[in-house]
Amino acid sequence: MHTIDMMSALVIGGSGAFVSAGMMRLAMQTDRSLRRPLRWCLWGFLLLGFGLSQNAFTSWAWRLPILVGASATLAATALVSRGLLALATGHVVRHPALLDVLLPTGVLALAWTQGHHAFGIVFHAACLAVSSAAAVALRPALLAPRSAAEMTVAATMTFYAATWAYGLFGAMTYSGPERRHLMYVPEPALSLYAATYALLPLVVGALVLNLANARLGQRLRVQAGTDELTGLMSRRALHEGVDAWHAEVLAQGRRAALLLIDVDHFKRVNDTFGHEGGDEVLRALGRHMPRQLRAGTRLARYGGEEFLALLDAGSLDEAVQAAERLRASIAAAPLGGVPVTISVGVAGWPADVAFARALARADVALYEAKRAGRDRVVLDVEPAGGRRAGEAAG
Ligand code: GH3
Ligand code: MG
Ligand code: MG
Repeated sequence: MHTIDMMSALVIGGSGAFVSAGMMRLAMQTDRSLRRPLRWCLWGFLLLGFGLSQNAFTSWAWRLPILVGASATLAATALVSRGLLALATGHVVRHPALLDVLLPTGVLALAWTQGHHAFGIVFHAACLAVSSAAAVALRPALLAPRSAAEMTVAATMTFYAATWAYGLFGAMTYSGPERRHLMYVPEPALSLYAATYALLPLVVGALVLNLANARLGQRLRVQAGTDELTGLMSRRALHEGVDAWHAEVLAQGRRAALLLIDVDHFKRVNDTFGHEGGDEVLRALGRHMPRQLRAGTRLARYGGEEFLALLDAGSLDEAVQAAERLRASIAAAPLGGVPVTISVGVAGWPADVAFARALARADVALYEAKRAGRDRVVLDVEPAGGRRAGEAAG
């Protein structure tokens, strides 16, 4: 059977680690918020590349290259795990990153003086400990992943820890001269290890990039879905889920209603308290309104001082009552230190009617509320029976 030489594999793995370090450097330029975890991975890959290449290319005379290679491998495992953990779960390991380098070097230097058998065992045990700790910490990403990128990383780390477990068994049961690459599993497993360790640095580098991309995408989605000033849902986010929400409400046998909410005389607020004062009122509304509406109500900032609530209610009357409670609560207490009132247009959203059409009906009702003197709730009455929008409360 053909075998794969482990030392050659480590040279390839080391080159892959250098390539991955370069990829980390590029990724750091794309997304500044992920610089820290990417920097940990960058240092990890640099150390690994250095450790593996120097072990392969320096003289056999001392065992020192073995110690350096082993320390670099262990330190790189700790550093890259630290970066992966921060990227996948947001959890930041508390001890300083420098310890990830100093501690492995110290432990392995001590073991080094105890002869090659003990050294091989300590090296494998330490790699197993660090990679298992990382695999356990990454478990949420494996069990309830938010993206395929997360799951792949957690699965790879678990596999990596497993290679050390069997490697440790190999080191414990081996008797013979020291091997420069420190792998003591028998063939054909040794060739499989060679193939795996040749590929792994590059594979993990690609996984880190993939994960960083997933993080970036996630953050952009949240940003696009959130209104910056009020923290409410953005108009875009509301639109995206609106038809699914409608179908679900109707399927539950409930009625869908739109509450189009506009702050009264908001220009005057700006004129009196300045634009910053106006912003503060909008922020206060963003905090106040969700508390007044039933949990599960979708509330978005729809325009400047205009908000849209999607309500599922037992009846349109119930929706009008909810709107009325909201209106009264705002009229009763100054928001952001400024007394303001709102006008609300309420419209039902029956089955087989487009969202835009229902919204237009709510707008008609809102216009009616403004015309009738503001600080009131008006329910749109579909002109089916020849009736116009009629005043409901105020
Ligand atoms: P009404 O609705 O009662 O008819 O009167 P209004 O004064 O509220 O009327 P209009 O809708 O014409 O004016 C809305 C004002 O809201 C105009 C705009 O300057 C202000 N506005 C829109 N967006 C913002 C914002 O983000 N911050 C602040 N401070 N003001 C805003
Ligand atoms: Mg307006
Ligand atoms: Mg207004």
